[in-house]
Amino acid sequence: MDIQKIRSDFDILNEKVNGKDLNYLDTSATSLTPNVVVNKQVEYYKKYNANVHRGVHTLGSLATDHYEQARMKVRKFIGAKRFEEIVFTRGTTASLNMIARALGDLVINEGDEIVVTEMEHHANIVPWQEVAKRKNAKLVFVPIEEDGTIAEESVQSVMSEKTKILAITHVSNVLGTINDIKTFAKIAHDHGAYIVVDGAQAVPHMKVDVVDLDVDFYAFSAHKMLGPTGIGVLYGKVELLEQMEPTEYGGDMIDYVYKETSTWTDLPVKFEAGTPMIAEAIALGAAIDYLEEIGMDNIHDYEEELVKYAYNRMSEVEGIQIYGPSSDKRAGLITFNMDGVHPHDLATALDSEGIAVRAGHHCAQPLMKWLGTNSTARASFYIYNTKEDIDSLIKGLERTKEFFS
Ligand code: PLP
Repeated sequence: MDIQKIRSDFDILNEKVNGKDLNYLDTSATSLTPNVVVNKQVEYYKKYNANVHRGVHTLGSLATDHYEQARMKVRKFIGAKRFEEIVFTRGTTASLNMIARALGDLVINEGDEIVVTEMEHHANIVPWQEVAKRKNAKLVFVPIEEDGTIAEESVQSVMSEKTKILAITHVSNVLGTINDIKTFAKIAHDHGAYIVVDGAQAVPHMKVDVVDLDVDFYAFSAHKMLGPTGIGVLYGKVELLEQMEPTEYGGDMIDYVYKETSTWTDLPVKFEAGTPMIAEAIALGAAIDYLEEIGMDNIHDYEEELVKYAYNRMSEVEGIQIYGPSSDKRAGLITFNMDGVHPHDLATALDSEGIAVRAGHHCAQPLMKWLGTNSTARASFYIYNTKEDIDSLIKGLERTKEFFS
């Protein structure tokens, strides 16, 4: 991988932050966007700005073609068999809410159990809490091992004939843990349950094949994989999406509207009421092209190298506590705390040097409780980061430690 060439594709990396070169280590919150993706979005507005699935005029057809081509790119990128299985949503949160409502309505009854893990992002907890309340069902948590992983036996131990859904993250946005989704999917299916996967932190960083994993539903966001904000994906097995009722109603998703009732159109538009995120979907297609040109395996290997380097260097800084599994078992992020320094102060001090890291509870309060803290700092890496970025993070950490000591 030619990192300097990649870096030159991101104009934002020329920005100064507090007078310093930008050192962006917050990809887990949102990734930077390469110029080709920005330009693709602008191209829609400049060249074929029209609504989709409606007009017969030329611009309308062009917009529809680009929008549906983007869907085909997503389908291929995650190994789905059919375009009907790719629903565009507003993002991971919207995808998980949609599936919690639609699948919850279809399969959850009083006394049933929905299994989640203690490492979930709030987006994969709160919608299930609401289903459980609505249906008088129970939410059951898979415990985390001491090293921040989820053991197969722990998943087995909470599953029963009452379990209808296992909702689990592919990669933890706090611990960096990569969960063995293929094994967990088999466990869910052996119990007659469905598996819903939060792939927000996985799809941008590794090759994901939904058929190989045999997942029923899989959610992710474009803005964490070089794409624009405001768009994401819900993958669902076609035979399940067909059985589910839409969660939003209005234009485009109908087949015929009578005065008293209506019928629904075919997948996937049945789940895409109203004017969709047209420019954003097209730009997501461009982000996928960009990632595929580099190669997901190359991206994964490069990030693995970066995170190992960062893990080793950060471990050498006295007073730093790193959370989660060892460096050879984690995705490209490191969550940590510094003795005697609040993570917000730490992030503010680093920001003054142009270094962007996240501080807070990372939308994972049950996990914070498990870690025994209210908040942490997190550095996360992507294809535009270098070992020099990590070296300057280490220097920033040393200086912050000295300042607060
Ligand atoms: N799930 C995980 C693991 C995440 O890291 C995030 C975002 O940080 C989300 C879900 C929510 O994604 P979005 O805000 O794009 O809906």
